[in-house]
Amino acid sequence: MRKVPLFQYALDHGDSSSQVLSVVEAGPRPVLELVNVTKTYPTQPPMQALTGVNLRVDEGELLAIVGPSGSGKTTLLHLIGTLDRPTTGIVRITGLDVADMSDRQLAALRATRIGFIFQQFFLAEHATVLENVANGLLYAGVNASEREERAVDALSRVGLAMRTRARPTQLSGGERQRVAIARALVGRPAIILADEPTGNLDSSNGVTILALLNELHQEGATIIVITHDRDIAASLPRQVTMLDGRVSSDLSPDSLAPLESGAE
Ligand code: ADP
Ligand code: MG
Repeated sequence: MRKVPLFQYALDHGDSSSQVLSVVEAGPRPVLELVNVTKTYPTQPPMQALTGVNLRVDEGELLAIVGPSGSGKTTLLHLIGTLDRPTTGIVRITGLDVADMSDRQLAALRATRIGFIFQQFFLAEHATVLENVANGLLYAGVNASEREERAVDALSRVGLAMRTRARPTQLSGGERQRVAIARALVGRPAIILADEPTGNLDSSNGVTILALLNELHQEGATIIVITHDRDIAASLPRQVTMLDGRVSSDLSPDSLAPLESGAE
C-alpha cells in the first residue's frame, strides 16, 4: 500500500536512476506490523479478545484505532506497546519480532522505540515539568546535561518552554497532557502510542492536543491514537475500526473502500 511509483518519484526528485532505485526498493518503512494476531486471555472459559488482526503502520503515519468498549482496543494497545505478547501471530516493531526477545530486551525496545501518552497523564507531581520530561531519558544512557537539553527542546515543541520550572499541579489539564507528550517525544521514539489522550480534557483543551498531535505528524512523527470517540477518529488521516476483536474497517484518504476484515 502507498508505494511511490518509481517514475513518479524520479520526476518529483530528478534523481539519478541508481539513487532512485535504492530509495524505491526501501519503500515506506513499516514501524509496526501485526500479522494474524490473536490474543486469548486464560480465563475460565478462555476469552478471545483479538481474532486474526492484520495491521501495518508506516513511518510518519497518524492514525486512530477506534471501536466500542470491549472491541479489543486496550488489548491491542498492550500488544503494540510490547506490554504483552500475542497468543498467536506476529508482532514486529521497527522490523523486530517481539517473539524473539526476552522480557529484558522488550523493556529496552519499549524504552527506546515507543513513547506512551495516557489519558491520566501519569506525571510525577513532586517533580518539575523539566524533570518529568528529562526523566523520560533515564534509561536511555544519556548524561544529565543532555537529558536537560533534550527535555527543553521537547518542551519547546509542545509550546511549554516557559513552564520548565513549574510543577504539574500548577498546570491546566491541557498543559499537563502537553508535558506528557513532551516526555513521550524526548526519547525520539519510532512510535508514539496515545491512549485516549483527550479523555480527561474539556473540549477546547482536547482540540489543542489533537492539533498538537497533527503538528507533530507534519514534522514526521508516527502516532497511533487509541480512542472510543468517533469524532476524534474521523479528524485523523486514517481510521482503523475494531469490532469484536477484529479490524472491521481500515480507512485512509488513499483507500477507495474499506478493507475487508483480515485483508491487507
Ligand atoms: P476495549 O479496550 O476496546 O474496551 P479490551 O481489549 O479491554 O477492549 O477487551 C476486549 C475483550 O477482552 C473484552 O471482552 C474484555 O472483557 C476482555 N478482556 C480484557 N482484558 C482481559 C483480561 N485481562 N482477562 C480476561 N478478559 C479480558
Ligand atoms: Mg479499553
